[in-house]
Amino acid sequence: TGRNGTYNELMERLPRWKELIDLNGGQILKTVAIPELLYEDVKMIYYGGFKRCFLNFFRPYGASYELDQIKQLETEYHRVIKDFHMKPNFTLTDVNRYQEHWREQQGNLYVPHCGINAMGKAIGPDGMIYPCDDAVLLGEEYVMGSVWDGVDKAKEKLLRKKLNKLPDKCDGCELKCYPCPVCSVLNTDELASDPRDWFCELRKMQFRVVNQYLPKVPFKVVSGSF
Ligand code: SF4
Ligand code: SF4
Repeated sequence: TGRNGTYNELMERLPRWKELIDLNGGQILKTVAIPELLYEDVKMIYYGGFKRCFLNFFRPYGASYELDQIKQLETEYHRVIKDFHMKPNFTLTDVNRYQEHWREQQGNLYVPHCGINAMGKAIGPDGMIYPCDDAVLLGEEYVMGSVWDGVDKAKEKLLRKKLNKLPDKCDGCELKCYPCPVCSVLNTDELASDPRDWFCELRKMQFRVVNQYLPKVPFKVVSGSF
């Protein structure tokens, strides 16, 4: 892959990647690790000819921003949206996603998009069945069956109940981030640890920004006979 090869090798492969992404309706996943590089990176992705890009900000647990970087992220996020989002043939899909989340939250329609309550299943390399793909990393304690014996329904119920837990800090917060319970265990050794302040400020910032770019007609009205 590009990560292991030289810059020239990466450039040679670019047209093929674009072709495959276009064919499969895929997108570039850009992790926003360094705020000051955000604009230049999105510019490269846009001029590289890609059509969709999802800006992946850090999650509540694991790699983190400093609280004082959120302001800079906000400025840069505005700049990339203004200059690149919804250009002909280019969409920052995270903007659409968070605008949609906001509408669902306001309408009390929000259901966390999480494999735990969507009855996800993942098979680990050991043949064991886990309640979502990342839960495979949690090991034996989170096994709910195996490819040989199928899912143990009682264990499954217990595990989903155990994992479907919100941090105390999120109780009653209207943003309903649903911080990933598996990542909480993996990074803090506890279920539903309180996210740190930088994450809450990041999430507020994301909604603050995307809500300034809401489409004029947010809902498509489809006419038809009933
Ligand atoms: S628990 Fe975390 S990793 Fe698993 S499906 Fe939910 S959000 Fe994704
Ligand atoms: S903003 Fe913070 S407190 Fe509110 S739901 Fe998100 S993580 Fe929880």
